Amino acid sequence: TSPDYLVREARFEHAGLPPVALRLLLQTEHAGQADRYFAATRAALRYYGSWFGAYPYDHVTVIDPAWQSGAGGMEYPTLFTGGTRWLAPADVADPEGVTVHEAGHQFWYGIVGNNEFEDAWIDEGFNTFSTGRTMAEAFTPNFESERFFGGFIPWVNRDMPVSRATGENGWGSYRAGAELDAQCTPSWRYSPRAGGPLSYSKTALWLHTLERHLGWPTLQRVLSTFFERWKFRHPKPADFFAVVNEVSGRDMTWFFDQVYRSSNVFDYAIDTLESVPAGGEGWFDRDGRVAYGGTRGGDRFRTRVMVRRLGEAVFPVDVLVTFENGTTVRERWDGRDRWKLFETTGTSRAVSAQVDPDRVLLLDVNFTNNSRTLRPATGAATRKWTVKWLGWLQDALVTFAFFI
Ligand SMILES: [Zn+2]
Repeated sequence: TSPDYLVREARFEHAGLPPVALRLLLQTEHAGQADRYFAATRAALRYYGSWFGAYPYDHVTVIDPAWQSGAGGMEYPTLFTGGTRWLAPADVADPEGVTVHEAGHQFWYGIVGNNEFEDAWIDEGFNTFSTGRTMAEAFTPNFESERFFGGFIPWVNRDMPVSRATGENGWGSYRAGAELDAQCTPSWRYSPRAGGPLSYSKTALWLHTLERHLGWPTLQRVLSTFFERWKFRHPKPADFFAVVNEVSGRDMTWFFDQVYRSSNVFDYAIDTLESVPAGGEGWFDRDGRVAYGGTRGGDRFRTRVMVRRLGEAVFPVDVLVTFENGTTVRERWDGRDRWKLFETTGTSRAVSAQVDPDRVLLLDVNFTNNSRTLRPATGAATRKWTVKWLGWLQDALVTFAFFI
């Protein structure tokens, strides 16, 4: 071993998993970070080992490369390089994030050996998803940070804890490149700038969407079955899709047609929310006050919610309406048509409507249009808006869906 490195030894032990000898080769100026490297490596061995399958070797070597050597963050079977900096704030996940990720490649790439040249999304995407899940279990909260002065001085934004669903999965990266290419294009032929968004972020987001759609126990069985069946072998994309269908007991081809075989994006939105007195005559503003002519009806409110599919891709979504008295109604929509109108009449006025309120569809490229709230608002603009909306209703051929 080069005298430039400090050598530290430790051991991984966890009930139900075989022990692993950990050997860390550390830059002398990073001596204080040995425990963080070991903690991150142990976290990967523990969580990946429990969720997918045990690490099969009795040792692993972690190398902390020289500052600006360009050798950080790379994986080889039983050996990987991490990466850290001289000033590493305790609550920013660096070196933990890169260490978990590179240790994670022991599983996704070192053991399950897909062709990274053709299908980089399997090892990089599965590993991005698994890194985020491990970070959420072992190192929460950590914070968004930026580095100034050539990356030397870290600044931690403690108002921005890293969310697994968006930050760890790379939602911003995916949005920026979502339509550059279809994921099924061979990785070496991807459009410029598409590799990061599609291989890493899109895969992590659709795996996390599957976790929420199928439930973690099911997705965990999918991933452990895939791992067990394909360890020390070379799976193709169709091999993974077959395991999903087999283990979940559902035909998810429609899902992979969209996320893998196309570049279409998902975007569901609440177009309109209206809650006005039922049975009255004339026009009403959104607070239920008579805006023009007529008389107010009884004490019942008629609530209408229009939901739209703005993207080309299709996913079933829930629609949740919350009323002033605290009650809610939830309706399922298959999400296929371009829009759907829900109507209900009750004793309370609606205050908000949300599409996909549980955020199952993490691939939705715009969350800001997923909800609408009724605020006290009166005046000409409101009246005009309401009249226009009601006029449109009268003119259109409308199919109603009723809340149960
Ligand atoms: Zn990687």
